[in-house]
Order: sequence, then C-alpha cells, then structure tokens
Amino acid sequence: MKTNNKLIVITGASSGFGLEMAKEFAKDGYSLLLLARRIEKMEALKLPNTMCRKVDVTHKDEFEAAVREAEAKYGKTDLIVNNAGVMLLGDIATQDAKEWKTMLDVNIMGVMNGMQIVMNDMKERKSGTIINVSSIAGVIPFDNHAAYCASKFGVTGLTRVARGEMSPFNVRVLSIMPGAVKTELLGHTTDQSIIDGYNDWKESVGAVNITATDVAQTIKYAYELPQAVSLREIIITDTKQDA
Ligand code: NDP
Repeated sequence: MKTNNKLIVITGASSGFGLEMAKEFAKDGYSLLLLARRIEKMEALKLPNTMCRKVDVTHKDEFEAAVREAEAKYGKTDLIVNNAGVMLLGDIATQDAKEWKTMLDVNIMGVMNGMQIVMNDMKERKSGTIINVSSIAGVIPFDNHAAYCASKFGVTGLTRVARGEMSPFNVRVLSIMPGAVKTELLGHTTDQSIIDGYNDWKESVGAVNITATDVAQTIKYAYELPQAVSLREIIITDTKQDA
C-alpha cells in the first residue's frame, strides 16, 4: 500500500465523478476527506486514510468543521475539488424557481464556501490547489439549461477571478468542464420529457463511451503536475460529442 501525506478534500464524493476520484486518489495513498450528504455511500468504499463526513456544502459551518477536523488529523489541505453539484433541467417559462435556487446555492455558493475554507491557509503556505468542477455548460448554452448554465458560467467566471487572486501566492486554481458523462446527475431533473430528450441527444451525438473514471483520472493528472504548472481550464468530452 502506497502512502502519501497530502490531504485531499473532495465534495460530492458519494457518487459519479467524486466517488471515482476518491477511488483513484486512494490508490496512491493520499489522505482523503470525503464530503456529501449520503455518508453511507462514501463509507461503503472502505478506503484507507479516509474520513467521511455528512456535509451539505451550502452549510458553511459544517463544511468548515469537517475540513478542520480532517486537517487536525492529516495536515493542511493540499487539494480541494469542489465537485458537488446538481442539475435540474427545465424551461425558464415553467420551471419552479425553487429548482433555480437549489442549483445556484449548491453549484455556486457550495464552491465559494469550499474555496474560502482553504484559501487563507494556502496563501500563507504559498502552495495548494483548488479544482472547481464547472461544465461545458459553463462555456456553451444548451436548451433547458438556463439556471444550470447560469450556475456553471458562474463557476467558470469565479474560478478565473480566484486564479488571479491566488497566483501571486503560488496557489493553483483550475476548472474542469466536462461534457455529458453518465452519472446520477440527470436523475434529479423532475421533467421526464426533458430527461428523455437529453438521453436522445446524448445517443445522437454518441456521447456514451466516456466515463466518470476518465474524468477522475484527468483531475488527478492535472493535480499531480508540478506546482509550477497550471492546467487552467480543461474541457473534456466524449470524442464524438461535438457541442
Ligand atoms: P452525481 O449526481 O453523480 O454526483 C453529484 C454529487 O454531489 C453527489 O455526491 C451528491 O451527494 C453531491 N451533492 C449534491 N448536492 C450536495 C450538497 N448540497 N452538499 C453536498 N454534496 C452534494 O453527478 P456528477 O458526478 O455527474 O456531478 C459532479 C459534478 O460534475 C457536478 O458539479 C456536475 O454539475 C458536474 N458535471 C457533470 C457532468 C455530467 O455529465 N455528469 C457534466 C459536466 C459537469 P449527496 O446527494 O449524497 O449529497
């Protein structure tokens, strides 16, 4: 078993990209703090050097308490991946505004909370990496994605600003913008006709072979480059996806 004394915090580690990242980083012996609301899914992984905590990323106090607890055990956070997110697709004219608020709260406020929790220590240490999971919908508009696009364009923008704030301190701030990848993400959309339309589109462009593991390995690759190398923005899609 490899060991590696760096602490990595992953939000949204109970499924999809976050769960695959946890498995990939654990293979190389990193210390991990896994955060999401479904703690049982993270604990079921039974990963070594890993703390799992039930945290809603929109609740900054509980988010911060979990990070400080892990840092007391494993040392300061060297990487945070702000990955937790929700996608509730809908037509602006008819979608319930509560769904817009959920997306903006989790996808933007959750990311900003995660950044603020680790930023000051990273600045002091003049080292560290923040990776925010945006989306290709953070640079390109898609039908029925208004609030989701608003949240992900927001992540793209706030990450660019943070990069400017943190680069004088030698801290890397990156964003990754995946295209369509099969995970639980679509399952939260409440309009079945939109779910069906999305799946038809995915099939029609052939975006079916890329996996959550591919995305997780790409994030790990970007992190493991030397601290002097910043892969600022990564757009990753299935080769067949052309939008
Ligand atoms: P999943 O739905 O599989 O995973 C989402 C994760 O976020 C879950 O672990 C969920 O855990 C967690 N989460 C949701 N709300 C909260 C919250 N309030 N507090 C803490 N954790 C929360 O989707 P993906 O793996 O696909 O998504 C991961 C990220 O990738 C998201 O930001 C998504 O927008 C982005 N993305 C995904 C794409 C795709 O096609 N799959 C494409 C582009 C970007 P729990 O419910 O247990 O709290």
